Amino acid sequence: MRLLALAGDGIGPEIMAATLAVLDALQPHLSRKISVDERIIGFKALEAEGTTIPGDVIAAARAADGVLLGPVSHNAYPPREAGGLNPSGVLRRELDLFANIRPARSWPGIPAMAPHPTDLIICRENHEGFYADRNMHLGPGEFMPVPGVALAIRRITEEASRRIANTAFELAAGRENGRVTAIHKANVMRVSDGLFLEVVRDVARAHPDIAYDEMLVDAAAAHLVRAPGRFDILLTTNMFGDILSDLAGELCGGLGLAGSLNAGPLHAAAQAQHGSAPDIAGQDRANPASMILSLAMLLRHRGEERAARHIEDAMAACLARPETRTRDLGGVLGTAAFADTLCQDISERT
Ligand code: NAD
Repeated sequence: MRLLALAGDGIGPEIMAATLAVLDALQPHLSRKISVDERIIGFKALEAEGTTIPGDVIAAARAADGVLLGPVSHNAYPPREAGGLNPSGVLRRELDLFANIRPARSWPGIPAMAPHPTDLIICRENHEGFYADRNMHLGPGEFMPVPGVALAIRRITEEASRRIANTAFELAAGRENGRVTAIHKANVMRVSDGLFLEVVRDVARAHPDIAYDEMLVDAAAAHLVRAPGRFDILLTTNMFGDILSDLAGELCGGLGLAGSLNAGPLHAAAQAQHGSAPDIAGQDRANPASMILSLAMLLRHRGEERAARHIEDAMAACLARPETRTRDLGGVLGTAAFADTLCQDISERT
């Protein structure tokens, strides 16, 4: 199996190095050898090639069996005409990564607002909604017709809604007491979220064995804080999923502990849930857990269940002890030392 590693900006290189060290430690537990190609994206690529995501990197991502995508500082990029494309958005579209799967789970020993054990998944549509950089065939999905008036187009299609709904019900089918909650705002966005709900209900009818309900997105935010245990799979559109997954991750102990997988019919990309954290870049302070847990999701997606479990079990063991945590979680370890500890734990597993 061949993976493509794209470290990205800010803390990206540090957490990617930690993730590749873990992958190396996992080799004895894999059913096949995994090789990794590394390419540059983000500011380094902009400087070298005039674009934050060169065409040959997209081709390499298409040729790989999976992508490890580090965080990027896209908020600080120049305009797209000057090469500042969001690599994450480009790859999601070019590789047809229509589903963004974002688990949020509590960890023994890690203080969290959500009671332990909390274990839910945000299943988020990835291509459309309000995302102006990817929801149009040509041109951006937001514009200013006259000064002082800004408009944003929210795109919801039957096809994309059906694909993400199918993914949510497939995920639920693989879980004990799997259950899907569709999150929407159809009381206000009657046409767009109305269409989303209509399609989801159709998919739900095809899965009568899986519990299904619906909730307004504002109520869902409150219920996530009050009683996260009532949720299993939260199925939702792009922006609602983006926001709710940060909330859910934080409730479970912090965004740095939540993995994420972008998946489509052919391709998949593991991607940390957090951003490039430029405020701590280069200081060996970044927690690489989100990127490493995203690797576990990619490995599971490619059939390497045993290796994925080893990562999750080693992570749980390290997080359970204050002395083997990173500093953001009250521990003492830097990024590299935390990766070493995880690797040591993995190498002792059979
Ligand atoms: P951020 O997630 O980068 O950082 C928010 C806070 O969390 C910061 O204080 C940071 O130090 C901390 N933090 C984040 N990840 C951490 C980690 N692994 N370990 C320890 N602390 C961590 O969000 P931001 O500051 O709003 O955004 C910075 C840049 O990242 C922006 O350019 C933004 O556009 C970009 N961004 C990228 C992605 C992505 O590539 N997927 C996602 C979100 C934001």
